[in-house]
Amino acid sequence: MNLIVSAPSGCGKTTLLKKIFEKYPNTFGFSVSATTRQARNGEIDGKDYYFLSIEEFNRKIANNDFLEYEQVYDNLFYGTLISEIERIEKLGKHTVFDVDVKGGVNIKKSLQDKAISVFIMPPSLEILKQRLLNRKTETEDSLNKRLQRAELEISYSKFFDYVIINDDLQTATNELEELIKKHIL
Ligand code: ADP
Ligand code: 5GP
Repeated sequence: MNLIVSAPSGCGKTTLLKKIFEKYPNTFGFSVSATTRQARNGEIDGKDYYFLSIEEFNRKIANNDFLEYEQVYDNLFYGTLISEIERIEKLGKHTVFDVDVKGGVNIKKSLQDKAISVFIMPPSLEILKQRLLNRKTETEDSLNKRLQRAELEISYSKFFDYVIINDDLQTATNELEELIKKHIL
């Protein structure tokens, strides 16, 4: 079974998934995406993402290596590798996809009943901005791009099986856990 999680950047997807992975070790495999963006401080190649040059990314497109890929921001590409699904299936684990909304909708279309799709909603755009500022990972330019895109992403929430509002972290974690217990475990 597969879990698709999408949300505007900064909504708390990574934080929520980390809590679930800690509670259920060896149960889920995180589909490591390929991206052309630079690694942030502390991010590890092959764990957080496969950090690729644009040439390497294009080669993978030409080889049909992607289940889906999107240009999420100007000049920044992100894609789900088919080899990741195979890798995680071989381990006998459930696959978790952390992808943008278009990627989420496309993966759900491909996997249908084999996946549930969950949209993580910020309590408000103002709180989202505060969280991105607190995270201290963005420049003014990349922060603005993420906030601009958030509105478009929120308009896609209606295409997801479930929407969880990440206001209180523990409440949101519990809601995600309940969905996982119902549909996946
Ligand atoms: P994403 O993976 O969706 O981009 P992160 O998990 O990195 O988002 O979260 C963005 C920032 O918001 C982080 O600094 C995180 O600690 C914080 N955060 C996440 N969830 C909450 C919450 N419910 N309340 C307050 N802060 C949160
Ligand atoms: P970030 O740069 O903050 O890590 O991610 C930016 C956005 O790209 C997030 O919405 C994230 O979910 C999305 N993303 C990450 N990997 C993929 C992927 O493989 N495919 C798609 N479509 N989006 C992705």
